[in-house]
Amino acid sequence: MGTYKVKVDRDTCTGCELCSTEAEKTFEMDDEGIAVVVNPEGDDPDTIRAAAESCPADSIILHDAETGEKVWPED
Ligand code: SF4
Repeated sequence: MGTYKVKVDRDTCTGCELCSTEAEKTFEMDDEGIAVVVNPEGDDPDTIRAAAESCPADSIILHDAETGEKVWPED
């Protein structure tokens, strides 16, 4: 599995901190209590994918770093 381009949708993130707990080297909470990507390769791709899939607001958007194809959330 390749690496991902990782984004957080600040408009929908609820600040639940799940992602920063599950993939703590990739996501951190900022001063406003919203998740930010600190290192898109901070954790292994499976961990990042699992964090994205566990986001209750589908606020973590993953694109395949090589192809640019959107891989999460699924449409
Ligand atoms: S898991 Fe989703 S809603 Fe929760 S802090 Fe992370 S991006 Fe925001």
